[in-house]
Formats: sequence, C-alpha cells, structure tokens
Amino acid sequence: MNKPQKITIVVPFLNEKENLPVLLERVSAVFAGREEDWELLLVDDGSTDGSAEWAVAQAKENRHVRVLRLSRNFGHQLAITAGLDRADGDAVVVMDADMQDPPETIPALIDKWREGYEVVYAVRRSRAGETWVKKFLAASFYRVFRRLTKANIPMDAGDFRLVDRCVVDALREVRELHRFMRGLTCWVGFRQAGVEYDRAARHAGETKYPVWKSARLAFDAITSFSGSPLRWIAVLGLGVCLLAILWVLYVMGLAVFRPESLEKGWASLIAVMVFLGGVQLVSIGMLGQYVSRIFEEGKHRPLYLVRQDTRSPASE
Ligand code: UDP
Ligand code: MG
Repeated sequence: MNKPQKITIVVPFLNEKENLPVLLERVSAVFAGREEDWELLLVDDGSTDGSAEWAVAQAKENRHVRVLRLSRNFGHQLAITAGLDRADGDAVVVMDADMQDPPETIPALIDKWREGYEVVYAVRRSRAGETWVKKFLAASFYRVFRRLTKANIPMDAGDFRLVDRCVVDALREVRELHRFMRGLTCWVGFRQAGVEYDRAARHAGETKYPVWKSARLAFDAITSFSGSPLRWIAVLGLGVCLLAILWVLYVMGLAVFRPESLEKGWASLIAVMVFLGGVQLVSIGMLGQYVSRIFEEGKHRPLYLVRQDTRSPASE
C-alpha cells in the first residue's frame, strides 16, 4: 500500500460541550495504533453552548480535526448530510457525539469494510440508559417501517455506520429535503453487512430527541418512503361506503316494516355525521402531508447553509 487509506468520522452535534473533548480523546486513542489516516469532521448544527468554538480551536491545532459550522440548527439528518457532502475519506463513519456510539467499535466496522462490504451498519445489541417508552417505540417503528416500505432496513441499527466512498457519492445524488438517512443508505443498495455493539448511555447532557421529535422522524421516514398511507385512506373510504350501504338497506327495511321507529332518528344521524366528518378530516390531513412535501421540494432551497469550514478559512 503506498498511500494510507483515510477514514472520515462525521459527527453532527448540537450543544455537546461536555461530550466533544471525550469524543476526541477516545477517537484519537482508537486510531493511535492504526495505519489509516483519519479525520474527525465535527458538524455544528447551530450549537449555542460554546461547543462549536471549542471545536474550531481544536481544529487550529490538530490536523485530524475539521469543523463545519452550519448557519443555524437544521436538524440531525441534515447535519449528517452536510458532513457526508464534505467528507473526503475512502470510508466515512457516521456517529453521535454523546458517546452512545462507542468509538471503540470503529475497528470492527473497518474490518468488515475491508472484507468488501460497502455499507457496514452497527446494530444495537442492547441500549443502556434509555426509557422503555423510547425502546418500545423504536422497536415498533423498525417493524412498521419495514412492512410498509419493503425497504430492508436493518432492525435496531441507528445512524452509526460506516459507508464506502462509492456510497457517499451515491448519497450525494439524493437531494430530497425530508431525509431519513438510515432509509436512504439502505435504498442506495451496494453490499451491506452489520456488526453488533452495545449502545451505551449518554455520557453527559440531555437527549435532543424527545419522544415527539422521534415520532416526527418516524412519520417523515414513513411518508417519504411510502405512499401506503394514501392507500389506507382509500381502503378506509371504501369500508365506510360499504357500511353506509348496509345502513341504508337497514333503514329501508325499517321504513317498510316498522315505520314508527324512524321518527326518532336524529341521534344516530348525528353520530354517523360526526364519524364521517372525522374520517374526512383525517384523510384530508394525510393528503395535505403529501401535498406539503411537494410544496417544500418544489421550492428547491438548499438543504443547509454553511457558516464556516475550518478546511477553507476564507469562509469565515
Ligand atoms: N443532534 C444534532 N442536531 C439536532 C439534534 C441532535 O446534530 O437537531 C445531534 C446530537 O448532538 C447527537 C446526535 O445528533 O450528537 C444524536 O442526538 P441525541 O443523542 O440527542 O439523540 P438520542 O441518542 O437520544 O436518540
Ligand atoms: Mg444520543
């Protein structure tokens, strides 16, 4: 081998002041005895706690550190995208800044990559320090998502993974706004394999993914990979129509055989109206979700904006 291969580690972060120093230390330790060249590409997703300034200061002294600062908070998925867009390694590892994804797993990912796999995802054997609500919702989500989308995304793998250069290039071609990176890395294909690891508890700070934010990501994931909710609406509509026909037949029978019972029909009428009103509103809302996607994609705005890249100081 003439030139050592380079591994870029993309880490999006939002206010992770206490975690970044530990991250840098542990990643440096992992690569200390290895032949690969490496770069820690920290993507600041609009931090306000001074963690970005700390990172930029590190980048000035340490050639292994590069910082990309986004102009504001664009969200985890877009921060990962920004990192992948600028990463120039032969392979790119994506991981979280909070030490839930232990850097010590990276060598195992690299070994699998050397075996010829282009996407190596880290599968959570266990998850420490997370509430059972979150674990339960996460487990259900992976199952529903697989059923709905037929995308064969690995169960219980998060964003922690290694991707080969060719996959990074493929992902750069995908410019949709509502991105679910785990789904996309599966969608692009190539040879994929998994490596198991134990997900640790957060080292410091609070999670930036409360349950409602995870639910939104799950909803984004499903609606951007599948039109099935639209089909459910059609099926629901058909079902309600069938019920209505049966109801009409029943009422006609009553009119013939027990006309006196029809006089007090207003209560059931209201019940049916309210039910149908609800079904219609839900359906319109669901349609609206897809229409708003078209609206947002149609604007063709950039996915994120960069304030600074320590590799090109001119952007400061
Ligand atoms: N993060 C980010 N932008 C956001 C939210 C989170 O870059 O808008 C980062 C965060 O700093 C961390 C990673 O994404 O490095 C995962 O977030 P977190 O640990 O809060 O999520 P959890 O592991 O609890 O699902
Ligand atoms: Mg975390």
